Amino acid sequence: MDLSLLDLLRCPFCGTHLDLVDNEALVRDGSRVLWGVLGCQCCAFPVLDGIPVLIADDPTRAAMHAMEAGRKEEALASVLGLDVSAAERLHALLEGATATYRDALEIISPDAEGTYFVYRFSDPTFVLAETLIRAIGGTARAIDLCGGSGHLTRVLGEQSAAPVVVADVFYWKLWLAQRFTAPDCAPVCCDANHPLPFAAGTFPLVVLSDAFPYIWHKRLLAGEMLRLAGDRGTILMPHLHSSLGFNFSAGMTLTPAAYRDLFAPAQPRIFRDSDLLGDILGHTAIDLSRDVTPEQAGDEPSVTLVASRDAGVFRKHHVADPGALTGELRINPLYRVEPRGAQAQLTLAFPTPEYEEEFGAVRRYLPDSLTLDVDPRGRLTPAQFGTSYTDLRRRRILLDTPARYV
Ligand SMILES: [Zn+2]
Repeated sequence: MDLSLLDLLRCPFCGTHLDLVDNEALVRDGSRVLWGVLGCQCCAFPVLDGIPVLIADDPTRAAMHAMEAGRKEEALASVLGLDVSAAERLHALLEGATATYRDALEIISPDAEGTYFVYRFSDPTFVLAETLIRAIGGTARAIDLCGGSGHLTRVLGEQSAAPVVVADVFYWKLWLAQRFTAPDCAPVCCDANHPLPFAAGTFPLVVLSDAFPYIWHKRLLAGEMLRLAGDRGTILMPHLHSSLGFNFSAGMTLTPAAYRDLFAPAQPRIFRDSDLLGDILGHTAIDLSRDVTPEQAGDEPSVTLVASRDAGVFRKHHVADPGALTGELRINPLYRVEPRGAQAQLTLAFPTPEYEEEFGAVRRYLPDSLTLDVDPRGRLTPAQFGTSYTDLRRRRILLDTPARYV
């Protein structure tokens, strides 16, 4: 973490400033704190491998004590949730310079959630959230709440002059975000079921995508999001599972009316996700003048909530062409790629039947098979695809991924 983050942080329990404790555990690199302890008027919290952990439970305290006793590797392995064997495999992987996000994920999260993360850059909920951020995100400071391993954080970072704060309760997700997905982000490990560890009015843009239904203390979190956004901030919540429609891994859902009521002080507007995704796949504009009442949302499986005092948000936004590459150009990893001379034969191949069942809607923009006039074995450049480049990017057949992603 950069020391400047201390200006934004507050203890989640007593609300006071956090200060860096000058003890033997402290490891700094210029203005960056790699290891150390943050203290407030009630508590102490560790900074572990550059990430402040503002949680006061026994595992976090044990990790802090291990770090203070000089056992940093042990502290890191424990917050990453790794046993001795997995920690050794991760260590060996990182010794080589070629480790990718997917390699690390296979050690840290070898389950369905890991699969979801690898293919995150093209799933329909990401496409929706990404387009909304590009439409209404400004250059102001943003927070990506329950931001997981930083996929949307990366999009927010392309828009924002200040480092994007990404908050999540799972340390391992933030560690991957910092290392691979969004290296310029400011990760903060904290529990969204508790008061959030930030000063009031800090974030002109508060984003929470695809996670609110999993939070038990929804009333508390809604109040906290309103507090962080202040009177002038914007709250963006794409893909809220509705209890009136069917969702995979639905979480503890509410009705659209109940979501709206939680954010009532900010006069939120509700949008049907099917309308917004239809706009996006039409490649023209995303229409935020077309909000609906909860009754009109009906049994729509998910809705998007937007609260903003800026009337300019609620209009039709042009969907811009993909911009300049920020990472590496890749063929979507959902494709099996077979080189055929100077061409590449692509076949859509879902990683698991469960993934196909949940995210099969990618077929609305990813064809089952196609041939590209490029040799897929070399480094890909936009120029190789000629006039079809923009369309291939829009349809997520080509992706702009972080370096060392898959
Ligand atoms: Zn405190």
